[in-house]
Amino acid sequence: NRDQDEHKVKEYLDELEFLTYTAGGEVTKRFTQRVEVPNPKTYIGSGKMEEVQHYVKENEIGSVIFDDELSPAQQNNIEKLLKCKILDRTSLILDIFAQRAKTSYARTQVELAQYEYLLPRLTGLWTHLERQRGGIGMRGPGETEIETDRRIVRDRIALLKKKLSKIDRQMETQRGNRGALVRVALVGYTNVGKSTLMNVISKSDVFAENKLFATLDTTVRKVVIGNLPFLLSDTVGFIRKLPTQLVESFKSTLDEVREADLLLHVVDISHPNFEEHIDSVNKILDEIKSVDKKTIMVFNKIDKYQPEILEEDDLITEKTSSHFTIEEWKKTWFSKIGDRALFISALNKENLDEFRKRVYNEVRDIHVTRFPYNN
Ligand code: GDP
Repeated sequence: NRDQDEHKVKEYLDELEFLTYTAGGEVTKRFTQRVEVPNPKTYIGSGKMEEVQHYVKENEIGSVIFDDELSPAQQNNIEKLLKCKILDRTSLILDIFAQRAKTSYARTQVELAQYEYLLPRLTGLWTHLERQRGGIGMRGPGETEIETDRRIVRDRIALLKKKLSKIDRQMETQRGNRGALVRVALVGYTNVGKSTLMNVISKSDVFAENKLFATLDTTVRKVVIGNLPFLLSDTVGFIRKLPTQLVESFKSTLDEVREADLLLHVVDISHPNFEEHIDSVNKILDEIKSVDKKTIMVFNKIDKYQPEILEEDDLITEKTSSHFTIEEWKKTWFSKIGDRALFISALNKENLDEFRKRVYNEVRDIHVTRFPYNN
């Protein structure tokens, strides 16, 4: 369906624009092209390339960002043709991570991912470029490292891996020392409200803002609901096409998810692509072998969303009034995903009592199976 495709492409580019903005850039022009498969040499076709070239020559564009991971050869060829800075989705995401990494652990993880991205791209890559300093895609491994040979990069990768595995072991011990408390992990696409929810239920002060990947390091808080304590972790947000280098180097950050007893999968239902977001998250959960974990789906931002009501006969009625009662929510499409779903607004603190009750019940059940004699 062409309309649906175009709608999707718009959403993808909106997301890429949001990523660019998060990295500190500004988008002035968008280009799309409908092709069966990307051109193996230049990703886009020659006609489209000329169109882009025109804007580069007119100085209307300083760099071009592709919504995909370009092969090293493609990147090289496009750079030769356009003679400007070429970024792909992976390098853009890596750049944002580099800006946002605060602890030395997160910095090490990002640095490793950046070097792994860089290694196959070392030959000839930067030679056609004007030697510009700074800007998106230039943070992290600087020019001097880029110009040195692959061997040095490989040594650096080995060193970073060693450093990480040492910290990993320490973290493993720390996690072990946390004792028998039930562990709950917030997971979800980036910017869905995980940190906001974490703050509301743990009364803590985790950094939340309307940018992608505000959270890089895992935050773990002890939360008490009723008189039941458990550990709640908020981890890095997932995104469509999350660079594999990152999934690999954020292994330990993701261990928090892997070792959790219960997942709270937070979804922003006000986002037009939320169903695809759910799929992206599930895909990464699958990669880290956590897709079969006990999960509560938490649909957030109900204050920003107008659902359609499903009648008995499956016909849809448009809702005209602005507020939805919980009974009405139960009549929507979302009720079809079963009772594992909750609808909240973390921002307006709507329906949080039901949320707490559900989490409490699940945690209590896990607790009881773990300590059958203490209860
Ligand atoms: P995270 O990346 O998943 O941790 O998301 P954040 O907690 O940083 O939130 C991302 C943005 O969504 C912030 O601007 C929040 O204020 C906003 N937000 C979070 N929860 C809600 C909500 O229930 N309703 C609305 N309208 N905005 C929300």
